Amino acid sequence: MTQLNRLLRPSLVLQGTVLDLTPELLNHHGLRGLILDVDDTLLSTYSGNLSAEVHQWIDSLRPHTQIWLVSNNINRPRIAKIGRALDLPYLWGAGKPSRRKLRQAAEEMALPSAQLGMVGDRLFTDVIAGNRLGMFTVLVEPMVNPQERPRKHRLRSFEIWLSRLMGAFRP
Ligand SMILES: [Mg+2]
Repeated sequence: MTQLNRLLRPSLVLQGTVLDLTPELLNHHGLRGLILDVDDTLLSTYSGNLSAEVHQWIDSLRPHTQIWLVSNNINRPRIAKIGRALDLPYLWGAGKPSRRKLRQAAEEMALPSAQLGMVGDRLFTDVIAGNRLGMFTVLVEPMVNPQERPRKHRLRSFEIWLSRLMGAFRP
């Protein structure tokens, strides 16, 4: 297997959104820390409002795991607002697949990579970044707000198509 194939392979592919990541799953995989992508993972890129379900989900995980938000978005006020709303530490402008800010979050959590889950909706940013650091990587379906028209998520689909072609992605 080539190096890129290895980096493109999520440890776990969830057939649902991030809300399907349960405390039982974290426990099963020995995860004690989570790094969450923000846009299209917790809420639509085009929405400023977190759903009540996401608030409840975060609260259900809090007793079991440390959680950091690490976003590629360079809109600091947006990510800060979401971090404050969820009462979670956050980093913005991460430039994933760069490892820099993931490493920073991992150091703050003081956990080995094997106990850290990197959770996001994109293969070429979230999954590659987490895999580069030996984290447990989880690919989720994009979060779509109910009032929003269905989107095609073309770039995400293209990444999955390409990695299938390369033999990396076999859910
Ligand atoms: Mg995303």
